[in-house]
Amino acid sequence: MDIITSVKDMQQRSSAARAAGQRLSFVPTMGSLHQGHLSLLEEGRKRGDLLVLSIFVNPTQFGQGEDFADYPRALQRDSELAASVGVDIIFAPTAADMYPKGYATYVDVDGITENLCGASRPGHFRGVTTVVSKLFNIVQPDLAFFGNKDFQQLAVIRRMTSDLNVPVEIVGLPIFREADGLAMSSRNVYLTEEQRQEALVLSQSIAEAKRLAAAGESDCETIISKVTELISSQAETRIDYVQICHQLSLEEQKQVDNDSVILLAVFIGKTRLIDNSFF
Ligand code: AMP
Repeated sequence: MDIITSVKDMQQRSSAARAAGQRLSFVPTMGSLHQGHLSLLEEGRKRGDLLVLSIFVNPTQFGQGEDFADYPRALQRDSELAASVGVDIIFAPTAADMYPKGYATYVDVDGITENLCGASRPGHFRGVTTVVSKLFNIVQPDLAFFGNKDFQQLAVIRRMTSDLNVPVEIVGLPIFREADGLAMSSRNVYLTEEQRQEALVLSQSIAEAKRLAAAGESDCETIISKVTELISSQAETRIDYVQICHQLSLEEQKQVDNDSVILLAVFIGKTRLIDNSFF
């Protein structure tokens, strides 16, 4: 496995692989890998000849006062995990190489970036779509793998690649969870033991929403108020949003139907966690 840090070297390596007829699988991440990331890599391994993992804590997708400086970084451990699932190349660029002096170009997706995380994290998706566009141009993948965990991010990336005719197939994969239901996240390391316990309320309240819908409740307001009550019963929680939306448009719905997805963002202490599920 190679670790490439230069944008130019990565681009040359990808161009050569493509010229040799190789199919490129790509998994973009911010590192601090967990089983959720590994599930994307395993799928990428199966479907491509050359598997590229990027690790880049992208400054442009963090807002002021967010955790850019504190975000966990663990390149040594990540390298061992990546090697264990057959990654061929880790691309770990520097911020200076990705955003050199004079950098001035950004990719903006309207509409579906305005609700949910887009509303509470202004500029976040602009940073995401910009870095993903750059990574696609550098790595030149045939396939790129993303998790449903960041449901809105995946929808935004699908919109962007479709709108800009980007020749990359976007593959979305299920949320990988701990045995007790907590969605895996690099940010889970911020939680104290008590907070880790409280964080279970995210998946538990989603399960309750699904139970209500399965029992015939279709009114979104009623389901959301039950979920809100459950989350609020925990001492250190603060709800950012609880919404039931159409899975493609991400517009809020009044009635649950086959296209509905419930999405949550909840602070546990200072740590903001997200989770979601189809019904
Ligand atoms: P991150 O490094 O957290 O920005 O995530 C990199 C990729 O891994 C994104 O496509 C995420 O949606 C995906 N991912 C993160 N957590 C999970 C999880 N628990 N299950 C599946 N995919 C995940």
